[in-house]
Amino acid sequence: MLNGKITLVTGGSRGIGAAIAIELARCGASVIVNYRQGQTAAEDVCRTITEAGGIAFPIQADVSQVADIERMFDSIEKTHGNVDILINNAGLEIRMPSTDYPEDVFDRMLDTNLKGAFFCSKRVLKAMKEKGWGRIVNISSVHELRPTGNRSPYSISKAGMEMMTREHAFEFSRFGITVNTVIPGAIRTDLNKGVLSDPAYEKRVVELIPARWIGKPEDVAPIVRFLLSEEARYITGASITVDGGLML
Ligand code: NAD
Repeated sequence: MLNGKITLVTGGSRGIGAAIAIELARCGASVIVNYRQGQTAAEDVCRTITEAGGIAFPIQADVSQVADIERMFDSIEKTHGNVDILINNAGLEIRMPSTDYPEDVFDRMLDTNLKGAFFCSKRVLKAMKEKGWGRIVNISSVHELRPTGNRSPYSISKAGMEMMTREHAFEFSRFGITVNTVIPGAIRTDLNKGVLSDPAYEKRVVELIPARWIGKPEDVAPIVRFLLSEEARYITGASITVDGGLML
């Protein structure tokens, strides 16, 4: 289904990004697994993919740094050609009351979650437009929809990502490009391992979810795969929750 499509998954060395990378490779995509520091983890994801007969390559870049993004794309384009599919997945969440955020923590979250996704998108949109085909999926969060406290820069960054999806879909859908948002709810990954290790907190979270369980990264990957398919060619500028009903 995705044979020959050059696909970049940012932050693909673990969690939701790793599950997406593995699923897209299973469908034939040539997957480039971006990591910031987790070289071994990214290599492990690539090994899982190649051992199953797929194609995958790790690539290091800190997506909060625009110069690093440019270096990453220069390297990808030189070795593999233009990116057909971009999954803006890299994300960072640091929790504290709004009155406590130091400027550098605010900047790191916005630069990773929003600015990084914008400049990765900027880099691929031009070539996608020339080719007349492209797919971008932005991985947002239910926190773009509902405030819960103690993570306001995270929620702000994801709300910005939502409007970025809509702006890019508005501007580029006429060129055969679709841009969509996937909105995960509570998914068990390293991002929330710390807080979910408290059984009382975990119980409170589960009670908020109509499905009454916490999702896995593999629960997010299939909708991303669908949004990349030809069957989804008329879906653009959309936001799809994968949250066990949390936002009801
Ligand atoms: P995770 O912490 O396991 O994965 C995040 C990945 O992003 C990691 O591989 C990390 O190294 C990478 N990353 C962070 N900063 C980076 C940078 N500057 N450059 C390159 N890579 C960077 O968490 P996850 O849960 O798999 O999160 C994946 C995405 O899903 C994030 O955007 C997150 O906001 C979103 N999300 C997660 C949940 C959840 O419950 N786990 C819910 C909603 C949304």
